[in-house]
Amino acid sequence: MASQTVAPTTHSASATASGSAPASAAGGPVDLGPASGLSCRECGQTVPLGPVFACELCFGPLEVAYDLPAGDPEALRARIEAGPANIWRYAPLLPVPADVAGKPNLNPGWTPLVKADNLARELGVEPGKLFVKDDSGNPTHSFKDRVVAQAIEAARAFGFTTLSCSSTGNLAGAVGAAAARAGFRSCVFIPHDLEQGKVVMAGVYGGDLVAIEGNYDDVNRFCSELIGDPLGEGWGFVNVNLRPYYGEGSKTLAYEICEQLGWVLPDQLVVPIASGSQLTKIDKGLRELIKLGLVEDKPYKIFGAQAEGCSPVSTAFKAGHDVVRPQKPDTIAKSLAIGNPADGPYVLDIARRTGGAVEDVTDEQIVDAIRLLARTEGIFAETAGGVTVGVARKLVESGLIDPSLTTVVLNTGDGLKTLDAVAETSQATATIRPSLDAFRAAGLAH
Ligand SMILES: *Cc1c(COP(=O)(O)O)cnc(C)c1O
Ligand SMILES: [Zn+2]
Repeated sequence: MASQTVAPTTHSASATASGSAPASAAGGPVDLGPASGLSCRECGQTVPLGPVFACELCFGPLEVAYDLPAGDPEALRARIEAGPANIWRYAPLLPVPADVAGKPNLNPGWTPLVKADNLARELGVEPGKLFVKDDSGNPTHSFKDRVVAQAIEAARAFGFTTLSCSSTGNLAGAVGAAAARAGFRSCVFIPHDLEQGKVVMAGVYGGDLVAIEGNYDDVNRFCSELIGDPLGEGWGFVNVNLRPYYGEGSKTLAYEICEQLGWVLPDQLVVPIASGSQLTKIDKGLRELIKLGLVEDKPYKIFGAQAEGCSPVSTAFKAGHDVVRPQKPDTIAKSLAIGNPADGPYVLDIARRTGGAVEDVTDEQIVDAIRLLARTEGIFAETAGGVTVGVARKLVESGLIDPSLTTVVLNTGDGLKTLDAVAETSQATATIRPSLDAFRAAGLAH
């Protein structure tokens, strides 16, 4: 496998594009495994690996470019299968050093792909064809542990000492926990009105937690200002100046789904959209597997899922627009409440290119879907999982999802973090004195 290293970059000229941290830990070359540099999604300009996220020529987003292992797919498959039961089995395809599994981190991933026959029957999908990729079992109970694990390796390589992020909730907890394990200071930023489960998860790991009076888009704007200011010096913002690395973590969802299906591409995927990063990187991961010969090439469709109360991408999709117009979020799906999604236009491209779609559901449909998934498969999803299951149901009804083909629906978070969504409808069936008479009287003995 190629493991090219590139001299660190010192982009001090552009405040928008650069972090103000040292470019590499020891001033030596940056070792992020097969990552060979960063390339601009818009103009293709390449720059060396560094804590930069926007192209200096056109301000397009930078993403990680690789020298991926060439040659025998069988050997690579065997090597992956012999790896640890976490995301590091895919280290040869990620921007991380080869010895990553031995470093202190939370080792997320390799979560269950649940064959959801009961749910399939309810949705009218052929049994055996519907799967839930259940990411609620990650160390901090959302898919965000995958992306943070990549960002931490970049932070180590570039010599940052503080980890930070703008978060809709789950990311703050994932950063706090990973920083605690890896020995970084953390200071994370959230909107002030998050669910208690998210706030506590973000605060318990001992880092600093700052609630901002505003919505996520305000938090994000604030963080962009902080990065350009001496106040933010030495800070690695996992989803801002480390965003190119962070994003790559979502590829592991694509890898795992295919491997768990027996190294086969699913036909249809239903993926939640907040900033759109996860969806675009799942597509990137699937294309890499095809390119490497790890799966047989065939068409797949990616469907994006949003809440109606924050649906800038599905609105643009349905209107046939290429531009995503920002919205002011108002939904119980707070983890997805990004009104101005950075990767929105790329999500539109992918949905259109693959023959998928972007759809949204109301808060009431989200709650119904959370309960449906719990009742049929014993999986308690957070509101984001209610969004994907609700959208899957809608897409089967409208005929956009083919019920005879393999469909994977993502559940990206744990329902324990969003208890309020279903608290009212999930109370005790009866409250009785501890006596058999009282139980008989309650009419539940059958
Ligand atoms: C962050 C998050 C997502 C997706 O976020 P993107 O910004 O689109 O990558 C999905 N589900 C949950 C639960 C999240 O916390
Ligand atoms: Zn560019």
